[in-house]
Amino acid sequence: MSMDKIREAILNGASSEVFSSLEIPKTYRAAHIKANEQEMFKGLSSNEKDPRKSIHVGEVPTPEIAPDEVLMAVMASSINFNTVWSSIFEPVSSFGALTRLAKESEWAKRHDLDYQVIGSDASGVVLRVGSAVRNWKPGDRVTVHCNHVDDQDQSAHDDAMLAGNQRIWGYETNFGGLADLAVVRANQLMPKPEHLTWEEAAVNALCNSTSYRMLVSKNGARMKQGDVVLIWGATGGIGAYAVQYVVNGGGIPVGVVSSPDKADILRKLGCEAIIDRKAANYQFWNDNGTQNESEWRRLGKDIRGLVGEDPDIVFEHPGRSTFGASMYVVKRGGTVVTCAATSGFMLEFDNRHFWMRLKRLIGSHFANYREAWEANRLIAKGMIHPVLSQVFDLANVGEATYQVHHNMHEGKIGVLCLAPSEGLGIDDPETRARIGEDKLTVFRRG
Ligand code: NAP
Repeated sequence: MSMDKIREAILNGASSEVFSSLEIPKTYRAAHIKANEQEMFKGLSSNEKDPRKSIHVGEVPTPEIAPDEVLMAVMASSINFNTVWSSIFEPVSSFGALTRLAKESEWAKRHDLDYQVIGSDASGVVLRVGSAVRNWKPGDRVTVHCNHVDDQDQSAHDDAMLAGNQRIWGYETNFGGLADLAVVRANQLMPKPEHLTWEEAAVNALCNSTSYRMLVSKNGARMKQGDVVLIWGATGGIGAYAVQYVVNGGGIPVGVVSSPDKADILRKLGCEAIIDRKAANYQFWNDNGTQNESEWRRLGKDIRGLVGEDPDIVFEHPGRSTFGASMYVVKRGGTVVTCAATSGFMLEFDNRHFWMRLKRLIGSHFANYREAWEANRLIAKGMIHPVLSQVFDLANVGEATYQVHHNMHEGKIGVLCLAPSEGLGIDDPETRARIGEDKLTVFRRG
């Protein structure tokens, strides 16, 4: 009942005073995993582990908020690859992170529960602010970035991603975004881009900020005009934003995908140099566990065939299956920037090519508040666009996660939480019309 009133207030654009006076429900609907099921997939391969079995959607108690936090109503959220990792308890179960977090403070103890509300993206409306929150008030329409940092720690200053207690909200903390309510720190909030629907606004923060740091930020590869950038998974969550950053920044993207349909999406993004890795059928690894340098060379030749030179930057994340090739094909003096290892994290490459050709390797992880803010600003200005392909209801979040786990999707999958239907939440139709529906719907299916 009180949740219906919250939804109604949001849909009616109620005032801050109205939001302040709304009753907060004692429980709320949330996608969660259970500590007593951490071993449920023991002995199975990654592919056999089924998120539809481990993710539950049901009522959980509403937590208190700390002085530096806000309680928000979540209109929409998204599936990230970390939703897959949480739900299959790989590479480690996330419950250990909650136990470690609980040791930090009295407030942190709330996180250590026998369930974890997952999800690292959200768009919605602030309902309550803690007593130390300065810049936000009930009624504010927001998106959330997932860098969870305690700014009392000296290590959190300079670059917050280097903070000793840096965590990813909704993955290494509780009370995440795949729910009707969420608890976030005030320093995770950003204004919702006004020309977007709730579901379009919900899919960007994690992947867009990650790609911004990897390619644009001084903490990443510092791409410059004319740079050739090889992008693995170029229509996946982070790859689809990476392509946009390369095109916007005057670079030359070489996008790798695995189907002609994905190649069509890339052309619509302005990426002309495309490799279909399935058609090319690269065999970087031999059956006996050694790597095949002639296949690395074949990839290099294919890239030269398309753009006439080697990549200045490789946007790397598949990990074990591609890493040796990425380190080989990158130009003399070039940079491989990596944020992940989807296919396996024990990597192997030929160090001779690395040192003799003076290459560089940069490890990158999410983004600090400033970087996430800059990335969100580019969305708000219509210079980077959401890559929403499909929308699921919260009740079907297990199936949505299954699709991401098995690479059955493109771009990002959005999830409706309190939003009753798609298409709501646009506050600036003029900007939307100026940008054009075609730009905002490149990834939409059907
Ligand atoms: P995604 O939406 O599933 O996209 C990944 C893409 O990679 C797929 O579209 C697929 O494209 C390609 N791919 C998958 N396996 C591959 C393989 N073996 N060889 C070559 N290409 C492969 O996932 P995402 O959201 O982009 O995330 C990608 C990875 O980055 C995940 O591991 C995720 O956890 C990680 N990540 C890390 C951070 C961070 O802050 N550190 C942030 C975001 C994501 P094709 O099949 O079309 O080639």
